[in-house]
Amino acid sequence: MKKLSVVFLGPPGVGKGTQSKIVSEYFGIPHISTGDMLRAERKAGTSLGKQVQDILGRGDLVPDDLVVAIVEKRLAEPDCEGGYILDGFPRTVAQADELEAMSATALVYNLTADAEALVARIAKRRSCPKCGQMISVEAVGDNVGCPRCGTDMVQREDDCEGTVRNRLRVYNEQTAPLIAYYREMNLLKSVDGMRNIDVITGEVIADMEQYRGR
Ligand code: AMP
Repeated sequence: MKKLSVVFLGPPGVGKGTQSKIVSEYFGIPHISTGDMLRAERKAGTSLGKQVQDILGRGDLVPDDLVVAIVEKRLAEPDCEGGYILDGFPRTVAQADELEAMSATALVYNLTADAEALVARIAKRRSCPKCGQMISVEAVGDNVGCPRCGTDMVQREDDCEGTVRNRLRVYNEQTAPLIAYYREMNLLKSVDGMRNIDVITGEVIADMEQYRGR
């Protein structure tokens, strides 16, 4: 079977994390979120965590060499042999070049959405500090436990409006060039991220199954 080395691309709040989790469970391949890994380092108070703390708070990008090092280590683990879903990496052309040198990407799903809709969506987003599950307060109301593990949901500190606008700016300047990068490699598939979660998941899974060859 072909290796499902997959990248989810798209602006903050478009649903990369949500889709990556579902799709990785479906195919039994790891979901690798550099944002989750960096937040875990920060929470554990490691030297890397301390180094990136302020950068995460501002919504700027962590230096390429630091992120590339954690991804390289993670991709070398045996559970990545059959494939993986990268969520939030690469975010710069330099990171994408490094990734291709480590492991060739097979599929890139570019989730798209209108910027203003994303600001509104992120403001309503709550996430589980334990398992990373995300949910909209619109769907369930505020102050609810995580639907997966019961832990109290929190708002990410970088989900406030000012930081979100900076994250969108950073995305447009540094990450959006990856759309052309992967299009030129003939790997890019555009997916309208404003639709229902299940519809998007269905489309991505069908495409991955077709690629892998059932
Ligand atoms: P995310 O959870 O993907 O939205 O990432 C949260 C934050 O982690 C970002 O705003 C960046 O500060 C940092 N980060 C995550 N992935 C990367 C990456 N590939 N390159 C640089 N910084 C990153």
